[in-house]
Amino acid sequence: MKKAPYQPTSAYVHIPFCTQICYYCDFAKVYIKNQPVDAYITALLAEVAAENIRELNTLYIGGGTPTALSAEQLDRLLSGLTQHLDLSKLQEFTVEANPGDLSDEKIAVLKKNQVNRVSLGVQTFNDKLLKKIGRSHSAQDVFDNVAKLRAAGFNNITIDLIYALPGQTMADVKQDIKHILSLNLPHVALYSLILENHTIFMNKMRRGRLDLPSEDTDFEMYNYIIDSLEAAGYDHYEISNFGKTGYESAHNLMYWDNAEYYGFGAGASGYVNGVRYKNHVPIHHYLEHADKQAVEEKLTQKEQMAEELFLGLRKKSGVNTKQFSEKFNQDFEVIYGQIVANLIEKQLLEQSGDYIFMTRQGLMLGNSVFEAFILDDE
Ligand code: SF4
Repeated sequence: MKKAPYQPTSAYVHIPFCTQICYYCDFAKVYIKNQPVDAYITALLAEVAAENIRELNTLYIGGGTPTALSAEQLDRLLSGLTQHLDLSKLQEFTVEANPGDLSDEKIAVLKKNQVNRVSLGVQTFNDKLLKKIGRSHSAQDVFDNVAKLRAAGFNNITIDLIYALPGQTMADVKQDIKHILSLNLPHVALYSLILENHTIFMNKMRRGRLDLPSEDTDFEMYNYIIDSLEAAGYDHYEISNFGKTGYESAHNLMYWDNAEYYGFGAGASGYVNGVRYKNHVPIHHYLEHADKQAVEEKLTQKEQMAEELFLGLRKKSGVNTKQFSEKFNQDFEVIYGQIVANLIEKQLLEQSGDYIFMTRQGLMLGNSVFEAFILDDE
């Protein structure tokens, strides 16, 4: 039990099962076959029920792949959540889905249980590249799913894409953007491939067998993506996220606003009462432990300020320095004035009124900007 005097109004629920293991993925997940899925759902619902949660504003079911569950399991999960949680004020209820797993039955289960936003893990529309990164769906599955979701009344659909994939060319990226635009979805997120440890891609890389695009091509792709989507009316409201007006993700904005939230499920992270915590993982540890939290970290004020900046600067609107000073009872200008001036001189940051925000160049070199704000311990 997290016992927050002030209660968060967002929750993340983790489903750690997948019907395939993608070559680039380092999330907390396992191949679903022979896993104790029903016991996991029971434990997860018990974890949620133990928390005295008041009205939620956003609820996000991610993974893993929530749609790796059978329609019955998905229904037990979602109807259990809707019973245990007060969703009367819920603004956004997102479920992540894998295009290959999303059957008519599962779409009906989502609809029945108040889900109002579906996030499809598309990655690319190029079938050859999909195979190359370990995905089991095809581009046609995506078109079929979007049509079925729309027919079922889902308008708020977002897709995730990855660029700078092995062997991917500028022409491939242009083709992906063409497909996105043809679908006319209200939201899309595009991420540059990141090589993570303990992934098949990292092994290949170490053996010199991964033909990644150069950094220059990566930047060229990112520039092209931003220009094309902005020209098509999408607001580039966060480093990797693009939305039509009114379709920005309320749940993700909550993270970037450095707000607190509950995290449920194996390996899920939460942030309640100034404490960041992470639940037990792997699944059998999560099932065995009555207290689901494995790690708790009370953040110092310096860490909280750094997080506020890293997260806030991801947004196009950036960070309001006046509100920052009030929140932390510290003078932003005194602490960060020189750092901001240096970053402005390097054309990585801009300032307008009380706001600081990243330039296009800053967005591309985000880590250099974030690192500059890390203060030495006195
Ligand atoms: S990318 Fe998604 S579907 Fe693929 S292994 Fe990771 S969590 Fe599972």
